[in-house]
Amino acid sequence: MNEFSLIRHYFATQTTQRSDVTLGIGDDGAIIDIPSGYQLVITTDTLVAGVHFPVNTQPTDIGHKALAVNLSDLAAMGATPAWVTLALTMPSADRLWIGHFCTGLFRLADAHQVALIGGDLTRGPLSITIQAMGLIPTNQALKRSGAKPGDLIYVTGTLGDAGYALNHLNKSIDVSLIERLNKPAPRVEIGKKLRRIATAAIDISDGLCADLSHILAASQVGARVNVDLLPLSKELLKATDRASALSLALGAGDDYELCFTVSADQQENLARLLTNTDCNHSYIGTITAEPGLVLHYDNHSLFQGAIHGYQHF
Ligand code: ADP
Ligand code: MG
Repeated sequence: MNEFSLIRHYFATQTTQRSDVTLGIGDDGAIIDIPSGYQLVITTDTLVAGVHFPVNTQPTDIGHKALAVNLSDLAAMGATPAWVTLALTMPSADRLWIGHFCTGLFRLADAHQVALIGGDLTRGPLSITIQAMGLIPTNQALKRSGAKPGDLIYVTGTLGDAGYALNHLNKSIDVSLIERLNKPAPRVEIGKKLRRIATAAIDISDGLCADLSHILAASQVGARVNVDLLPLSKELLKATDRASALSLALGAGDDYELCFTVSADQQENLARLLTNTDCNHSYIGTITAEPGLVLHYDNHSLFQGAIHGYQHF
């Protein structure tokens, strides 16, 4: 199969079709219509085999995760995902692999009515780059820069599960932990609801401490986080001791949960907005005027444990 029949047979077979795609796959570029009153939010993320996922990861999971990490960035902006492009580098044109990859990719894309509108295919070590585009009503995007002293800090879901799975590859551990690593659920629904209320937001890809620190730097504030309030899954607490679970929740990456801030007088409003969403949210601390991130326990003594960390460079 040549490049063009691969595109026709696999990448141009998505169920979701959007009426705002004037020209999709097949020309030199795609053409999309942006409705008036909206801004385009654009993000891109690359997954490299052996760096961002273990080489033996199932192709359906790779397809899912490559899209999920991008939708997670759009969720953190409060955007509604709409279109993606895919630049795929593969060592060979393995049709079985491509078929499964597309199954994982399109299952998630269809669930969010996201259309694949173009891309590129090249030969080389396995690497997947997706560019995702979404819509936000003008001036409503969530940024990292709006947190104010006194704001309350929240996270969605539970933290540390994916980090635990990454540390226990090829071991027999709870499948729900492995799923958290391989099939993260982008918090698109919550991100959209936060438009009207969050003062700052970020998605947790590099660990809570690292990503919350980005909010603090961009907003020129500090924070106090009570580690006893961090949401830990029962599966994680069954798999490891509480100290290790906390260390993973604070430092390990790949959670793809949202961390966001809300002004203190909006607490009840937030609870109301987020009832009946697909995921819970937990209050974990408060923004301070004093710079720096202070981690403490319920009894106010300073956190003494290790923080599991990972840095690319
Ligand atoms: P060009 O040579 O003009 O860059 P290509 O031959 O690379 O175009 O691609 C032909 C068409 O197929 C383009 O519309 C391109 O966006 C699309 N395409 C290529 N690779 C992919 C892919 N992996 N997924 C989706 N669309 C793709
Ligand atoms: Mg061209």
